[in-house]
Amino acid sequence: MVGAGFAGVACVRRLERRLAPHEADITLVTPFAYQLYLPLLPQVASGVLTPQSIAVSLRRSKKYRTRIIPGGAVGVDLKAKVCVIRTITDRIVDEPYDYIVLAPGSVTRTFDIPGLTDHAFGMKTLAEAAYIRDHVITQLDLADASEDPAERAARLQFVVVGGGYAGTETAACLQRLTHAAVKRYPRLDPSLIKWHLIDIAPRLMPELGEKLGRAAQEDLRRRGIEISLGVSIAKAGPEEVTFTNGRVVPTHTLIWTAGVVASPLMQTLGAETVKGRLAVTAEMCLPGYDGVFALGDSAAVPDLAKGDGAVCPPTAQHAHRQGKRVAENLIATLRNQPMRPYEHKDLGLVVDLGGADAVAKPLGVELHGVPAQAVARGYHLAALRTNVAKTRVATNWMLNAIAGDDFVRTGFQARRPAKLKDFEYTDAYMTQEQVRQRVEGAAAGPAT
Ligand SMILES: Cc1cc2nc3c(=O)[nH]c(=O)nc-3n(C[C@H](O)[C@H](O)[C@H](O)COP(=O)(O)OP(=O)(O)OC[C@H]3O[C@@H](n4cnc5c(N)ncnc54)[C@H](O)[C@@H]3O)c2cc1C
Repeated sequence: MVGAGFAGVACVRRLERRLAPHEADITLVTPFAYQLYLPLLPQVASGVLTPQSIAVSLRRSKKYRTRIIPGGAVGVDLKAKVCVIRTITDRIVDEPYDYIVLAPGSVTRTFDIPGLTDHAFGMKTLAEAAYIRDHVITQLDLADASEDPAERAARLQFVVVGGGYAGTETAACLQRLTHAAVKRYPRLDPSLIKWHLIDIAPRLMPELGEKLGRAAQEDLRRRGIEISLGVSIAKAGPEEVTFTNGRVVPTHTLIWTAGVVASPLMQTLGAETVKGRLAVTAEMCLPGYDGVFALGDSAAVPDLAKGDGAVCPPTAQHAHRQGKRVAENLIATLRNQPMRPYEHKDLGLVVDLGGADAVAKPLGVELHGVPAQAVARGYHLAALRTNVAKTRVATNWMLNAIAGDDFVRTGFQARRPAKLKDFEYTDAYMTQEQVRQRVEGAAAGPAT
């Protein structure tokens, strides 16, 4: 199994439960010792939740027996059935397999915009969320200390690009952070704090429908977030960002959440891809190769519920359910039984904008405000995998509601590179040629 996200962990858990230890050895390749509950990442950035509360342990499970290799797959020889892994100590090792399940998820999608990967932050990993929190509080500290009005103004402007649920929640949660924090900075003029949320699309979160999308937009505008639609970034620098409409915003904070693209591992396999995602059948098998499954954000799984050649959107909802189905299909293969296609009708969406602001569309029912917030929180508590994680998150929510935040800048990550180019490891992979040479070399044995 490659990847311990929603898809990988759901698959491994089901295999552990349904296969006896003598039937299969399960190996999981993952750089981290946890499954990250990504939908609550913006709440870590805003300090409502601690980072540990959404890092769900891989080793806390009743039937846990999987061998975990700490590292990342950097190439796969699909013919020789060998996965090449770079461990967290930078050792390259070969792992032969009978069946491989590829679920390495996605990375932030960037475009060829000057300065973007050098100056923008992403919101895709725990380290990025923790870093952004420290960075935003740092801007308040520096603005408070500065005697230069231009520097103050620049440090107190924040730009988030991406009006999907990830970007909208990020802007909303972080605006609440600065809005509450500024009360502890009596020297700062609160009206100088400006959050910008921009997207090239004409609407925020189109998947919510017109009415709810507008309600979310009104909530954000009421809280002073400036929303610019039909606009993107033309250029990013260390102290300013230029929008495509020519507007220049002085800022030290650009957060880029404009979509995702499948893990670059999928492009290295030499198999067909659809917009970067590995093209698989509805059973999530890779055509033409024996024993290869792919799913989640990294695979283009046909969306049978929608039909018309649609593929499943990259959501946790699909990834988790696909994980269970791949496990069942793998077991069916082992037992010479027929596989079943994946089919799931979207259950809707929940969007937590912080405080009592939320929008949700469970099973097509449109909710706004407190009822939506209750549904959103109930959904997350139900979806978190372990009871310990559920308790940690619920306790964090309660503590935050009662005691608020102390807005402490930890400084743990100060002076460390943290921009998109530093976090996305997109050049860590081997080409098919390199993988083949390595595997063939190993098969030939050491030269004498
Ligand atoms: C901020 C944010 C908010 C979101 N909110 C929602 C939401 O509210 N609802 C929803 O349904 N979806 C949401 N999503 C999307 C959802 O999180 C993803 O669709 C889901 O995580 C995909 O699951 P996955 O298993 O394919 O990938 P992931 O969950 O991303 O897991 C992939 C795993 O593979 C690991 N990995 C990467 N490369 C390698 C490699 N080479 N070798 C080994 N391991 C590797 C990664 O470290 C990671 O642990 C959100 C995403 C973000 C970023």
